[in-house]
Amino acid sequence: MEKTLLIIKPGAIQRELIGEIITRFERKGLQLCGIKMIQLDDKILSEHYAHLSHLPFFGRIKRSMMACPVIVCCWAGADAVNVVRNMTGKTNGREAVAGTIRGDFSVSVQENIVHSSDSVENAKTELARFFRPDEILHFTTNNNNFIYAEDEQISNV
Ligand code: UDP
Ligand code: MG
Repeated sequence: MEKTLLIIKPGAIQRELIGEIITRFERKGLQLCGIKMIQLDDKILSEHYAHLSHLPFFGRIKRSMMACPVIVCCWAGADAVNVVRNMTGKTNGREAVAGTIRGDFSVSVQENIVHSSDSVENAKTELARFFRPDEILHFTTNNNNFIYAEDEQISNV
């Protein structure tokens, strides 16, 4: 199954939304196959947000991500990258559609509750950035026949 990275950002930790966010992906039918709480630092954030380094508020974005520990999760499922990204919603919480995480819990561009990978390629890079290989667990669950049709159960690592 495809895998993607979700980060529960400091704003969500402070606002006690951890359970709410994890529950959404569980209920959707995605499989949690890696999770840990970590304190991010400037070095890893400079890599993770390198595409924003030209912005005048790059420092502010990184400080926001270092404000307290975050939770990094690996979610697996068919088309997991797109599924998680769609459930995340638009970057700007004020524009994000209701029903998405940002649409329901954010009124900010920066303080937008979660990060999710935006492509299959970036998901691989980002998972490798935040997890050692042995921290991603591969295991079967019993209910796949009720979550997917037979031909949707693409097995890969
Ligand atoms: N961000 C911001 N102002 C901007 C663009 C981005 O504060 O104008 C922050 C915001 O927290 C966002 C993160 O930087 O989630 C990464 O930006 P990106 O464009 O990759 O958005 P995302 O993929 O998170 O929707
Ligand atoms: Mg992004």
